Amino acid sequence: MSTCKCLERISLNRSGFWRRRRGDTFVKAFISRHGYLESDLSRWFLVVWSITNVFVGQVAAAELPSNRVLVIGIDGCRPDALAKAVTPHLDSLIQTGAFSDQTQILGERYTENDTVSGPGWSSFLTGVWADKHGVQNNSFQGKNYEAFPHFFAYIKQQFPKAQTGSFVDWKPIDTHIVSHADVQHGFDAHGADGYTKFDESVTSEAVKFLSEGNPHAVMAYLGAVDETGHRYGFHPSVPEYIEAIETVDTRVGQLLTAMKSRPNFAAENWLVVVSTDHGGQGLGHGGGHKIPEIRTTFLIVSGSAAKQGKIEQPTYVVDVPVIALTHLGVEIQADWKLDGKPAGLTNRGSHNE
Ligand SMILES: [Zn+2]
Repeated sequence: MSTCKCLERISLNRSGFWRRRRGDTFVKAFISRHGYLESDLSRWFLVVWSITNVFVGQVAAAELPSNRVLVIGIDGCRPDALAKAVTPHLDSLIQTGAFSDQTQILGERYTENDTVSGPGWSSFLTGVWADKHGVQNNSFQGKNYEAFPHFFAYIKQQFPKAQTGSFVDWKPIDTHIVSHADVQHGFDAHGADGYTKFDESVTSEAVKFLSEGNPHAVMAYLGAVDETGHRYGFHPSVPEYIEAIETVDTRVGQLLTAMKSRPNFAAENWLVVVSTDHGGQGLGHGGGHKIPEIRTTFLIVSGSAAKQGKIEQPTYVVDVPVIALTHLGVEIQADWKLDGKPAGLTNRGSHNE
C-alpha cells in the first residue's frame, strides 16, 4: 500500500461514488455515507480536526505577549530641569523603578549625526544608531527603516496579533518612522501653543486606546517641552520650560491613570519606559556633540519587572525599544543588529510574578 493512503481514499465523486486506487486500476463503488465513509473518512477527519485544534491552540498562545509596555517620549527634556520641576507622576515612576540621568543620545561607535529630533527619535524607536537607520538630521534623507524598522515591527514579527498604538504630534515621526501600528495618530503641531494643544490630543487618543483597546505596546510622544525650550530657553532657571515639564507630567498622569484603570491591570504586567531624544542649551540643541546638557538625558524604566533605583550601567537612547521588546518577551535576533541593551530590567525577566 501507498503511504498516502488517506489521500487516495478521499477521492469521492459528486454522485457519491468512491474511487479507490489499487495499482493501475480504479475500483468504482457506491459507498453509503453511513458505511465505508463512517469507518474511514470520519477517522481521517478526526485526525485532521485534532491536529488543527492542537495547532490553533499553540498559535493562539504564541500570538500574544503576556506583558505590556507603555513608552512615553518627552521631546527635549533636560534631566536637571526634570529634577527641579514638580512632577509627581514622573516621580512616582522613578520611585517604583530604575532611573538614570546620564543617558546618552549618541553612542560610542557613531556620533556624526546632528543632535536633533530626526536622528534622535529614529534611534529611540529603532534601537540602532544613525549609521544604521540612516537619519543624520531632520531632512530624513538616507532613512533606512526597511532594514532598521520601528520596534513595533519586531513585536509583530513574533506576535502578529499583538496590538500596537502610536500617538505623536511631531508629524515627521508619524510620516517617516512609524510602522506596524494598529492605532496611529499623527498630529501636525507647530509652535509652543500648537504643541501644548496637540499634546492634549495625543494624550486623549492614547488614553482612549489604553482604556477601550487591548494594547500590548503604546508609544506616546509629547512635544511641548522642546518647543517651549526653543522659545524661552532650555534651562532649569527658565520658568516657562519648567512649567511645560509640569504640564507634561499631568499628561503622563492621565496616561498612567488610564493604564491602571484597566480591568485586568494587575495581571497585565505593564512596564512604563520614559525618555527623550536630547536636552538643550540656550534656545536650541543642534550641533551639541560636545555639550553635556544636550547629549545627556534621562531614562525611566518602571514597573514590577524593573530594577529599583539608579541604573549603574551606561544607558543610551537606543536602549528604549530593546527594553520594551525584552519585556514583551520578543526574542532579539542577532541579524536585527540592534545597538540597545535591556537596561533597568530585573533578572527575573519579563514574566508575571
Ligand atoms: Zn527641538
